[in-house]
Amino acid sequence: MMGVKMTKSYKIEIPLPKRYDFKSVESKWQRRWEEWGIYKFDKEDKTKPTFSIDTPPPYPSGEFHVGNALNHAYIDFAARYKRLRGYNVLFPQGWDCHGLPTEVRIEKKLGKTKRDIPRGKFLELARKFTLEWIKPMREAIKRLGCSIDWTTEYMTMDPDYWRRTQLSFIEMYNKGYVYRAEHPVFWCPRCETALAEAEIEYEEVERELYYYNFELVDGGKVTVASTRPELLAACVALLVHPDDTRYKHLIGKKARIPIYNREVPILADPEVDPNFGTGVVMVCTYGDKTDVRWQKRYNLPIIKVIDEQGRMTENAGPLKGMSILEARRKIVELLRKEGYMVKVEKIKSNVGKCWRCHTPVEILPKTQWFVKTRELKDRILEEAKNIKWIPPHARKRLEDWVKSLDWDWPISRQRIFGTPFPVWYCRKGHIIVAKPEWLPIDPRFQKPPIDKCPKCGSELIPEEDVMDTWMDSSITAAVHAGWPDNMDERLFPADLQPNGYDIIRTWDYYLIVRGLILFGKPQFKTALINGMMRGTDGRMMHKSYGNYVSLLEVLDKYGADAFRLWVAIAVKPGSDLRFSWEGLEFARRFLIKLWNIGRLAYLYIHEFNVEDLNVNHKELRAIDHWILKELSDTINTVTNALEEYDYQEAVTKIVDFVWHKLADHYLEAIKYRMNIEEEKKKTAYVLYGILRDVLIMASVFIPHIAEEIYYGILGGKPWKSITIAPWPKPPEYDAEKASIGEKIIKVIAAMRRVKHDLRMPLSAEIPKVILYYLDEESKKVLHSGLEDIKGTIRIQEVEIKYGKGRYGVEELDNISFDVM
Ligand SMILES: [Zn+2]
Ligand SMILES: [Zn+2]
Repeated sequence: MMGVKMTKSYKIEIPLPKRYDFKSVESKWQRRWEEWGIYKFDKEDKTKPTFSIDTPPPYPSGEFHVGNALNHAYIDFAARYKRLRGYNVLFPQGWDCHGLPTEVRIEKKLGKTKRDIPRGKFLELARKFTLEWIKPMREAIKRLGCSIDWTTEYMTMDPDYWRRTQLSFIEMYNKGYVYRAEHPVFWCPRCETALAEAEIEYEEVERELYYYNFELVDGGKVTVASTRPELLAACVALLVHPDDTRYKHLIGKKARIPIYNREVPILADPEVDPNFGTGVVMVCTYGDKTDVRWQKRYNLPIIKVIDEQGRMTENAGPLKGMSILEARRKIVELLRKEGYMVKVEKIKSNVGKCWRCHTPVEILPKTQWFVKTRELKDRILEEAKNIKWIPPHARKRLEDWVKSLDWDWPISRQRIFGTPFPVWYCRKGHIIVAKPEWLPIDPRFQKPPIDKCPKCGSELIPEEDVMDTWMDSSITAAVHAGWPDNMDERLFPADLQPNGYDIIRTWDYYLIVRGLILFGKPQFKTALINGMMRGTDGRMMHKSYGNYVSLLEVLDKYGADAFRLWVAIAVKPGSDLRFSWEGLEFARRFLIKLWNIGRLAYLYIHEFNVEDLNVNHKELRAIDHWILKELSDTINTVTNALEEYDYQEAVTKIVDFVWHKLADHYLEAIKYRMNIEEEKKKTAYVLYGILRDVLIMASVFIPHIAEEIYYGILGGKPWKSITIAPWPKPPEYDAEKASIGEKIIKVIAAMRRVKHDLRMPLSAEIPKVILYYLDEESKKVLHSGLEDIKGTIRIQEVEIKYGKGRYGVEELDNISFDVM
């Protein structure tokens, strides 16, 4: 097709340039679409069905990376498809501003910790940097061609968003779902804040397992194995398995802690693993989550040996003031010196680390606000079944997570840049929660409208902590729907919840939790889960691995359409995909193909006013019916695939149709008709319909080039944009003629191959060809396709007769031919 020779003596001016320049085309349409406001959710429209998307608000990290882009591409495919299907689509965009990532970055940028910067100043900087970091990300999303309704843009650090988050807290408090209590929580000593279980990442590391002796009070000794001897001062008991015959006689006795000489009981508990170490476990407050359980179960004392900054407290005696690592070295030295140490082994074990700064976390008892998530477990598991998960196994991930949770959700963060708790305490311990009309309020800086405790009249002390950032982002679906001021029930629960599988355990989970508490239902109906973008080497993409690819580099080199097309083709939603320049190259080649098809189509359709171009299908040729059947199949397949969010299937079908049916065969077989007066109208009619429908479907994935061809070749009519056209209906065709057409196409393909094998240029004329048939049906096919075969292959004389020739036709045993 690419080598088409213009046989016409005059030159037709094609409105699109030869070379497709994605750079100017993409930015032009992005600007225009936004100016036209065609992707705005129409609040007033009550006729169209609505489709609401709970767009995940990204962290303002300053860079929108290829993984974010994958997520947003998936969302945009859904938004564009639903719009074409006639839905009034809400595709909002927000920014999840608060929380650790921003604070950690500010601290790193300034080389100071939050302690060294006044709180007001810190907040001011956090807001300023957040706005700066959002800018390039917003730009990147726009360059990706996402059909976002930008009038909806919000930031969770805005006072109006604070008001919503704070109100959601008050409602949960009034419903009895939040409480304040002292409970052990995960603690990052670097970030100096509590963390939820969802914020802990486990990493397997090699570390030392120390074996050392405890003296028994009644004489003798017992050996204990532990990776954390620096916690000795916090040891409150030794535990053995009740059936462990080695130690049965010790149960109920007492042991003396080395160095510290304090006595602790020896207890039996079935949770002890007799195969780990010596089978004797030292319970410390707290080494890990099991210690928390044991402390509670046996009502053991709590001895805090590590403080909020990760320093040893005075309870640690000779270790006081040391860091955890220094303390470990010191206690090992002391145990050796005093003769307690038996041996040291290397083992591999999991260490919990802060998700943001990767510092190993500790467990500290803290007075915090908690959400009662444990009692919701069963309901969450039940409701998760009513949500459609794509892919279906994503639900398992949520279920496993919910089942693994031991603690309620701690929502207090000892940080600065976050939504403040609308809460005060009085000297006598009463809790005063703000009235909704006081919101938004920052108790750290603003006085409440009352100045005394309403219960006892004593002075008010503001809450200094802020909320976990997931408190902001776990009400997004409701906020998008207008909660609490003008909730549009049509938009809630959200129709689509699109996110990566890495945040199923946070975002999806918290959205369900908050939905159940605040609204009595989950906040979304369908969860569309995307995989992770890996580097070209297949490993997780990471700057330190040297396999990192910047989205801007991709967009500069290939443009948005190529990226979007590639991510759609590469995998099905839910699977990881490996970054591939070859994949982008393939996508680019397809775009060029489509571009050339558009330009070629112009030669056929430019003479007609295509909108009222109508031809009775009875007049169409067999190969026309064949291509209409292929188009019809394509529309059906693409529609069904997109209904199931199977982008790979949809786009593969479009590419296959365009490349391997339309370009490779049909366009070749109609070239000769361009100069035949009575064929012109029919060809233009068929080609126009195909191009229009292909562009509409393709605009889900590659909207820029689709729009450019629509305007350049089809004149930009009748719709303002091809991206808001009605979804195509499968065209009518005659099945019998289509089947004949398919065979004619095969004959033509076989003859082209032969021409190629004989080293004849495709444009070269062949003096004579004899076509052979062995049955009546094949005879009919050959007669019906005579003109198409003759015209396409450029044969001067054709003879059709019974028999068998030298060259066969693939899949058609009863047809053959000879080239004379
Ligand atoms: Zn941290
Ligand atoms: Zn009081």
